Amino acid sequence: MDNITASEVAGLGVGTLLLCATIAAPKIDAFFSSSQRSALGMCRRCGNLRRLACSRCKGTGSVKEGGILRLGSNLMDDLYENLGYQSKVKQISCVKCQARGYFSCPECSKQ
Ligand SMILES: [Zn+2]
Ligand SMILES: [Zn+2]
Repeated sequence: MDNITASEVAGLGVGTLLLCATIAAPKIDAFFSSSQRSALGMCRRCGNLRRLACSRCKGTGSVKEGGILRLGSNLMDDLYENLGYQSKVKQISCVKCQARGYFSCPECSKQ
């Protein structure tokens, strides 16, 4: 390890710092936006909408039968629908949100 120079060590340190900054940046961003919301007296989770869109059905309340496992063919179905073809895939109610498409915000309902 004697042949590593001081500048190489410094370069390694800077590289590590840059890497850390790159990884941490989205988290810092999320931290600031949530602290801004609470500074404005808004809910940190929903921004005072009092509801959170269902992650499974993307707020639509229904999902294509087969769900996430059929993601690839869902893309094809969407394409056909966009082209005006009738989709063969049945829409079923989203079980995660009971077809409402959203949940009440747990932060807001605490108050
Ligand atoms: Zn849902
Ligand atoms: Zn909320």
